[in-house]
Amino acid sequence: MTGRSRLTVLAGPTAVGKGTVAAYVREHYPEVWVSVSVTTRPPRPGEVDGVHYHFVSDERFDTMVAEGELLEWALVHGRAKYGTPRRPVEEALGAGRPALLEIDLQGARQVRASMPDAFFVFLAPPSWEELVRRLVGRGTEDEEERAVRLATARVELAAAAEFDVTVVNDDVRRAAEELVSWTRTPVPSTKRD
Ligand code: 5GP
Repeated sequence: MTGRSRLTVLAGPTAVGKGTVAAYVREHYPEVWVSVSVTTRPPRPGEVDGVHYHFVSDERFDTMVAEGELLEWALVHGRAKYGTPRRPVEEALGAGRPALLEIDLQGARQVRASMPDAFFVFLAPPSWEELVRRLVGRGTEDEEERAVRLATARVELAAAAEFDVTVVNDDVRRAAEELVSWTRTPVPSTKRD
């Protein structure tokens, strides 16, 4: 089968481990280009500007939106803005590299509207109990923040049906392997309606 390299969008509920799976892909599968998002939230300890995110001011973010520089963007958990710079994605696909976005559900819906050839992977927890355990266990958010994230996760879990496939994050390496196998499949010319 021939076709262009595929844009794969990884989304799923809060704390399901999207970031960990995407980081695993970045480290172990250099042939897959992984997008670096812009965000208005401050870096967490250990996060490096330009590697994990591009950390920008609210003003800079709004300018990027106004100038059409973002493929999609969203206000996540009502706290900070996150977005995908458009040009690097186009460059990666233009160079024939499979490209991966790890974004929230609102962003995934925007990409589906603007790039219908993209492929959508929903990362699911092995169970709701496991999701709650991961959310609370991460310990980087306070009580109020956790409650906001749990509420978001409930709504997000219900969105699995909107996706092309569901990958269960029972094991980071296994889930990453399955995800990468989807990124490698060229876009068939029949995907569009
Ligand atoms: P965190 O602050 O924990 O790194 O990420 C919080 C949420 O923002 C995660 O659900 C992550 O998927 C989402 N996110 C990260 N980058 C982007 C992006 O570029 N666009 C959108 N829409 N969501 C993003």
